[in-house]
Amino acid sequence: MYVKSLTLKGFKSFASSTHLRLEPGITCIVGPNGSGKSNVVDALAWVMGEQGAKTLRGGKMEDVIFAGTTGRAALGRAEVTMTIDNTDGALPIDYSEVTISRTMFRNGGSEYAINGTSCRLLDIQELLSDSGIGREMHVIVGQGQLDAVLRATAEDRRGFIEEAAGVLKHRKRKEKALRKLDGMEANLSRVADLTSEIR
Ligand code: ATP
Repeated sequence: MYVKSLTLKGFKSFASSTHLRLEPGITCIVGPNGSGKSNVVDALAWVMGEQGAKTLRGGKMEDVIFAGTTGRAALGRAEVTMTIDNTDGALPIDYSEVTISRTMFRNGGSEYAINGTSCRLLDIQELLSDSGIGREMHVIVGQGQLDAVLRATAEDRRGFIEEAAGVLKHRKRKEKALRKLDGMEANLSRVADLTSEIR
Protein backbone atom coordinates (compact mmCIF):
# COMPACT_ATOMS: atom_id res chain seq x y z
CA MET A 1 0.00 0.00 0.00
CA TYR A 2 1.30 3.44 -0.82
CA VAL A 3 -0.06 6.87 -1.63
CA LYS A 4 -0.16 7.13 -5.43
CA SER A 5 -1.34 10.68 -5.80
CA LEU A 6 -2.68 13.70 -4.04
CA THR A 7 -4.79 16.47 -5.58
CA LEU A 8 -5.30 19.75 -3.77
CA LYS A 9 -7.74 22.42 -4.88
CA GLY A 10 -8.45 25.49 -2.78
CA PHE A 11 -6.55 23.90 0.11
CA LYS A 12 -4.42 26.45 2.00
CA SER A 13 -1.90 28.03 -0.43
CA PHE A 14 -2.94 25.67 -3.28
CA ALA A 15 -5.67 27.79 -4.89
CA SER A 16 -5.47 26.11 -8.32
CA SER A 17 -5.88 22.39 -8.73
CA THR A 18 -2.48 20.80 -8.02
CA HIS A 19 -1.84 17.14 -8.73
CA LEU A 20 1.11 15.34 -7.12
CA ARG A 21 2.00 11.91 -8.43
CA LEU A 22 4.00 9.82 -5.96
CA GLU A 23 6.05 6.67 -6.42
CA PRO A 24 6.59 3.83 -3.94
CA GLY A 25 9.49 4.48 -1.57
CA ILE A 26 10.74 7.77 -0.26
CA THR A 27 9.43 11.09 -1.58
CA CYS A 28 11.11 14.37 -0.70
CA ILE A 29 9.37 17.69 -1.08
CA VAL A 30 11.78 20.56 -1.43
CA GLY A 31 11.16 24.26 -1.82
CA PRO A 32 11.82 27.67 -0.30
CA ASN A 33 10.45 28.67 3.08
CA GLY A 34 6.72 29.30 2.97
CA SER A 35 6.27 27.64 -0.42
CA GLY A 36 3.72 25.12 0.91
CA LYS A 37 5.71 21.96 1.75
CA SER A 38 4.01 21.51 5.12
CA ASN A 39 0.65 22.35 3.55
CA VAL A 40 1.02 19.16 1.46
CA VAL A 41 1.46 17.15 4.66
CA ASP A 42 -1.51 18.99 6.21
CA ALA A 43 -3.56 18.00 3.16
CA LEU A 44 -2.65 14.34 3.71
CA ALA A 45 -3.70 14.51 7.37
CA TRP A 46 -6.89 16.39 6.50
CA VAL A 47 -8.05 13.98 3.78
CA MET A 48 -7.41 11.07 6.16
CA GLY A 49 -9.91 12.61 8.57
CA GLU A 50 -7.93 14.94 10.82
CA GLN A 51 -10.41 17.04 12.82
CA GLY A 52 -8.09 19.21 14.87
CA ALA A 53 -7.55 22.71 13.46
CA LYS A 54 -4.45 23.04 15.63
CA THR A 55 -2.92 19.87 14.22
CA LEU A 56 -3.43 21.45 10.80
CA ARG A 57 -1.63 24.56 12.06
CA GLY A 58 -4.74 26.74 11.92
CA GLY A 59 -7.01 28.50 14.40
CA LYS A 60 -10.24 27.07 13.04
CA MET A 61 -11.06 24.39 10.50
CA GLU A 62 -12.10 27.01 7.91
CA ASP A 63 -8.44 28.11 7.77
CA VAL A 64 -7.72 25.21 5.41
CA ILE A 65 -9.67 27.02 2.66
CA PHE A 66 -7.58 29.29 0.41
CA ALA A 67 -7.89 32.70 2.08
CA GLY A 68 -6.90 34.81 -0.93
CA THR A 69 -3.82 36.84 -1.78
CA THR A 70 -3.36 40.34 -3.18
CA GLY A 71 -3.75 38.95 -6.71
CA ARG A 72 -6.38 36.29 -6.10
CA ALA A 73 -9.73 36.27 -4.29
CA ALA A 74 -10.46 33.86 -1.47
CA LEU A 75 -12.19 30.62 -2.43
CA GLY A 76 -15.37 29.13 -1.04
CA ARG A 77 -14.17 25.58 -0.64
CA ALA A 78 -11.17 23.30 -0.17
CA GLU A 79 -10.90 19.86 -1.76
CA VAL A 80 -8.27 17.16 -1.31
CA THR A 81 -8.26 13.78 -3.04
CA MET A 82 -5.82 11.03 -2.17
CA THR A 83 -5.38 7.87 -4.22
CA ILE A 84 -3.93 4.84 -2.49
CA ASP A 85 -2.49 1.80 -4.27
CA ASN A 86 -4.16 -1.13 -2.52
CA THR A 87 -2.91 -4.00 -4.68
CA ASP A 88 -1.59 -5.70 -1.52
CA GLY A 89 -5.09 -5.51 0.03
CA ALA A 90 -3.86 -3.66 3.13
CA LEU A 91 -7.09 -1.67 3.15
CA PRO A 92 -10.14 -3.84 3.85
CA ILE A 93 -11.95 -2.91 0.64
CA ASP A 94 -12.25 -4.84 -2.58
CA TYR A 95 -10.42 -2.37 -4.85
CA SER A 96 -6.80 -2.30 -5.95
CA GLU A 97 -6.95 1.50 -6.02
CA VAL A 98 -8.81 3.52 -3.38
CA THR A 99 -9.63 7.19 -3.74
CA ILE A 100 -10.57 9.16 -0.66
CA SER A 101 -11.79 12.72 -0.93
CA ARG A 102 -12.81 15.44 1.44
CA THR A 103 -14.41 18.79 0.63
CA MET A 104 -15.14 21.62 3.02
CA PHE A 105 -17.28 24.66 2.26
CA ARG A 106 -16.84 28.06 3.85
CA ASN A 107 -20.36 27.82 5.30
CA GLY A 108 -19.11 24.88 7.37
CA GLY A 109 -20.53 22.00 5.31
CA SER A 110 -18.33 18.99 4.55
CA GLU A 111 -18.44 16.12 2.09
CA TYR A 112 -16.51 12.85 2.13
CA ALA A 113 -16.24 10.14 -0.49
CA ILE A 114 -14.57 6.77 -0.99
CA ASN A 115 -14.06 5.84 -4.64
CA GLY A 116 -16.49 8.59 -5.64
CA THR A 117 -19.32 7.39 -3.40
CA SER A 118 -20.42 9.75 -0.64
CA CYS A 119 -19.71 8.47 2.83
CA ARG A 120 -19.33 9.62 6.43
CA LEU A 121 -16.12 10.80 8.01
CA LEU A 122 -16.37 7.73 10.25
CA ASP A 123 -16.27 5.43 7.19
CA ILE A 124 -12.95 6.96 6.11
CA GLN A 125 -11.52 6.81 9.62
CA GLU A 126 -12.55 3.17 10.03
CA LEU A 127 -11.23 2.15 6.61
CA LEU A 128 -7.84 3.68 7.36
CA SER A 129 -7.63 2.61 10.97
CA ASP A 130 -7.74 -1.05 9.91
CA SER A 131 -4.43 -0.48 8.16
CA GLY A 132 -2.83 1.30 11.11
CA ILE A 133 -3.35 4.77 9.63
CA GLY A 134 -5.87 6.04 12.09
CA ARG A 135 -7.40 9.32 13.06
CA GLU A 136 -4.69 9.77 15.69
CA MET A 137 -2.34 10.23 12.74
CA HIS A 138 0.70 8.48 14.16
CA VAL A 139 1.85 8.07 10.59
CA ILE A 140 2.52 11.79 10.43
CA VAL A 141 5.28 12.96 12.72
CA GLY A 142 5.38 16.74 12.81
CA GLN A 143 8.30 18.98 13.61
CA GLY A 144 9.03 18.65 17.33
CA GLN A 145 6.55 15.80 17.73
CA LEU A 146 9.23 13.17 18.27
CA ASP A 147 10.00 14.85 21.57
CA ALA A 148 6.36 14.52 22.63
CA VAL A 149 6.39 10.80 21.77
CA LEU A 150 9.55 10.26 23.81
CA ARG A 151 8.03 12.12 26.77
CA ALA A 152 4.61 10.39 26.51
CA THR A 153 3.15 8.65 29.54
CA ALA A 154 2.88 4.87 29.48
CA GLU A 155 -0.87 5.25 28.92
CA ASP A 156 -0.41 7.55 25.91
CA ARG A 157 2.23 5.24 24.52
CA ARG A 158 -0.21 2.34 24.82
CA GLY A 159 -2.70 4.49 22.85
CA PHE A 160 -0.16 4.89 20.00
CA ILE A 161 0.38 1.13 19.88
CA GLU A 162 -3.34 0.36 20.02
CA GLU A 163 -4.00 2.77 17.18
CA ALA A 164 -1.23 1.26 15.06
CA ALA A 165 -2.48 -2.25 15.81
CA GLY A 166 -6.06 -1.34 14.90
CA VAL A 167 -7.39 -1.99 18.45
CA LEU A 168 -8.56 1.58 19.00
CA LYS A 169 -11.39 1.22 16.49
CA HIS A 170 -12.86 -1.65 18.51
CA ARG A 171 -12.42 0.26 21.77
CA LYS A 172 -14.35 3.22 20.28
CA ARG A 173 -17.08 0.87 19.05
CA LYS A 174 -17.30 -0.71 22.50
CA GLU A 175 -17.60 2.73 24.14
CA LYS A 176 -20.36 3.66 21.67
CA ALA A 177 -22.21 0.39 22.35
CA LEU A 178 -21.93 0.89 26.13
CA ARG A 179 -23.35 4.44 25.81
CA LYS A 180 -26.29 3.01 23.83
CA LEU A 181 -26.80 0.33 26.50
CA ASP A 182 -26.85 3.02 29.21
CA GLY A 183 -29.52 4.90 27.26
CA MET A 184 -31.49 1.70 26.89
CA GLU A 185 -31.26 0.97 30.65
CA ALA A 186 -32.63 4.46 31.37
CA ASN A 187 -35.52 3.88 28.93
CA LEU A 188 -36.27 0.51 30.50
CA SER A 189 -36.39 1.93 34.00
CA ARG A 190 -38.71 4.72 32.73
CA VAL A 191 -40.99 2.05 31.20
CA ALA A 192 -40.95 0.15 34.53
CA ASP A 193 -41.96 3.36 36.37
CA LEU A 194 -44.80 4.02 33.95
CA THR A 195 -46.00 0.42 34.17
CA SER A 196 -46.08 0.52 37.97
CA GLU A 197 -47.98 3.85 37.84
CA ILE A 198 -50.63 2.40 35.48
CA ARG A 199 -51.11 -0.66 37.70
P1 ATP B 1 8.91 26.21 5.86
O1 ATP B 1 10.00 25.68 4.98
O2 ATP B 1 9.22 27.59 6.37
O3 ATP B 1 8.45 25.27 6.96
P2 ATP B 1 6.72 25.47 4.07
O4 ATP B 1 7.22 25.30 2.66
O5 ATP B 1 6.47 24.23 4.85
O6 ATP B 1 7.63 26.48 4.89
P3 ATP B 1 3.96 26.03 4.54
O7 ATP B 1 3.96 26.21 6.01
O8 ATP B 1 3.45 24.76 3.98
O9 ATP B 1 5.40 26.36 3.96
O10 ATP B 1 3.12 27.19 3.83
C1 ATP B 1 3.00 28.44 4.40
C2 ATP B 1 2.29 29.33 3.40
O11 ATP B 1 0.97 28.88 3.21
C3 ATP B 1 2.23 30.74 3.95
O12 ATP B 1 2.65 31.63 2.90
C4 ATP B 1 0.77 30.94 4.24
O13 ATP B 1 0.36 32.25 4.00
C5 ATP B 1 0.12 30.01 3.24
N1 ATP B 1 -1.21 29.62 3.67
C6 ATP B 1 -1.55 28.88 4.75
N2 ATP B 1 -2.89 28.78 4.86
C7 ATP B 1 -3.40 29.48 3.81
C8 ATP B 1 -4.73 29.76 3.36
N3 ATP B 1 -5.79 29.28 4.00
N4 ATP B 1 -4.87 30.50 2.26
C9 ATP B 1 -3.79 30.97 1.59
N5 ATP B 1 -2.53 30.75 1.95
C10 ATP B 1 -2.33 30.02 3.05
